[in-house]
Amino acid sequence: MGQPGDGPKKKRRTSTNIVHSGRDPFAHHGFVNPPVYRGSTVLFKSLDAFEKREQRYVYGRRGTPTTDALEEAICTLEGGVRTWLTPSGAAAIAAALLAFTKAGDHILVADTAYQPTRKMCNGILKRFGVETTFYDPLIGAGITKLMKPNTTVVFLESPGSQTFEVQDVPAIAAAAKAKGAWVLMDNTWASPLYFKPFEHGVDVSIQAATKYIVGHADAMLGSITGNERAAPIMLDETQSIGICAGTEEVYLGLRGIRTIEVRLERHWRSGLDIARWLEQRPEVSRVLHPALESNPSHALWKRDFLGASGLFAFELKPVPKKAVAAMLDGLQLFGMGASWGGFESLVLPFNATPYRTATKWETAGPTVRIHIGLEDVADLKDDLDAGFARLKVAS
Ligand SMILES: *Cc1c(COP(=O)(O)O)cnc(C)c1O
Repeated sequence: MGQPGDGPKKKRRTSTNIVHSGRDPFAHHGFVNPPVYRGSTVLFKSLDAFEKREQRYVYGRRGTPTTDALEEAICTLEGGVRTWLTPSGAAAIAAALLAFTKAGDHILVADTAYQPTRKMCNGILKRFGVETTFYDPLIGAGITKLMKPNTTVVFLESPGSQTFEVQDVPAIAAAAKAKGAWVLMDNTWASPLYFKPFEHGVDVSIQAATKYIVGHADAMLGSITGNERAAPIMLDETQSIGICAGTEEVYLGLRGIRTIEVRLERHWRSGLDIARWLEQRPEVSRVLHPALESNPSHALWKRDFLGASGLFAFELKPVPKKAVAAMLDGLQLFGMGASWGGFESLVLPFNATPYRTATKWETAGPTVRIHIGLEDVADLKDDLDAGFARLKVAS
């Protein structure tokens, strides 16, 4: 009898892969999920076995059956060759940047990158002699003009953190490759479900698995997935850096990923519904959501993405700060806090103007990032509606 996990995996479709990839129940007495393997030391049966190191598991840091399961599941979904897990998304970004740079290199990073990514470039990488140029995320093939003979990495994040500009990934990747640079991408917003990085020329895809892969706001986790060319380099470098993800967190990632498709579809539909509703509000001047037809990034989103997540932003018409506080402080269903991708709705004011260097981000009014969770959309609208009423009174 065939076992779950057997068979020609390549021919299976996404929903089936999400459920079956990385699973081998009969390696665990038939239990549907693998146990949480806790361990540092792995024993060898003989001196000969130790010296040859031919057994699958040799040391806790180098992987367990639990980490293998999640790495395979993420790798299948991303469409890469091999995945490594890290203790957070930020650690994945740092490890990937360290693996593909050396002193004297120049790298190009999207001006819309997650702020800790910028910090990594302006801090550790700079100290180690790597120079960063931040570029306009909408540059497309024009990135060629920014490439120097020592440019070794082009880093993308699409859509960009906070402001959600979609990048022309195939055009940027082609330009980077023509000059021999590695293409690294933070693919957290879409998750590996809604953007397939390796079909668009990316070499290394990074996930803050903390977000939609874990999906329940109860663990920190990251992943780095490489293509054929990048995987051997990652294999070597991740070992030197010594990072590995905690097994409990890895298990929560496995628990989360099995339902990612049904969760994300709801985040997508509800998010777009609220985005359209916000667009009609007199208090709102614009909504930054690439799946909206009115968004400047809509055509690229439609061309390259298979769906949208529940994270976007909106800009209010100019109001005093106390009015924004009155609106947000009284929300009953939207929490205020960092991170996103869990089952709950969140709001967070932000200001993208101070940290941009390659582009100017101009707003007349305050900007708010919003994550639409799995609640009933009508209740979320009621909550926001009451918030707008408070905003009006305090304006
Ligand atoms: C949250 C986030 C990260 C960092 O992930 P952590 O797990 O919080 O370290 C990286 N990139 C993007 C786009 C994120 O939203």
